[in-house]
Amino acid sequence: MKRIAVFPGSFDPVTKGHENIVRRSAPLFDEIILAVGVNADKKPYFPLEKRLEWLKMVFSDVKNVSVDHYSGLTVDYCVTKNANYILRGLRTSADFEFERSVGQINRMLNPQIEIVFMLTPPEYTPVNSSIVRDIHRNGGDIQLFVPASVADLIKAWQ
Ligand code: ADP
Repeated sequence: MKRIAVFPGSFDPVTKGHENIVRRSAPLFDEIILAVGVNADKKPYFPLEKRLEWLKMVFSDVKNVSVDHYSGLTVDYCVTKNANYILRGLRTSADFEFERSVGQINRMLNPQIEIVFMLTPPEYTPVNSSIVRDIHRNGGDIQLFVPASVADLIKAWQ
């Protein structure tokens, strides 16, 4: 059986933290699908099309990584993609507590799917999309926090 992982997230926008997790996980799976969750109740800062475009650019050199979007339950989306793993990144104990409950519920909804966590390197622990959005909104420099290949595009987006 192919090892297919879904890495679900908002990626609003993609950060160096996401990039690190995906690049380190790519050799562990046959395929990784970066799946941008679309939630009708949550208004994103960056439009879906841009988030997808930037993800595709960042990982264009990684053969087994693809980009998609979905709405509804992550476990249901995994079934449509024949994915048997959900990949998530862990930064802090707060992440762990949140991920533990979501992961355990997902396992109750679908015991066929394993949840795999990868630890972030220390230098990316404080990096998150919400901080990048705040810096962007206030005209600051996001360069340090987002992948180099898309930094100028994200910066220029208004
Ligand atoms: P969500 O809204 O689902 O939390 P995010 O795009 O914020 O979406 O995060 C997607 C995944 O990436 C989550 O597993 C999150 O823990 C992980 N992640 C986010 N930032 C980092 C980082 N700096 N280092 C490692 N993992 C991260």
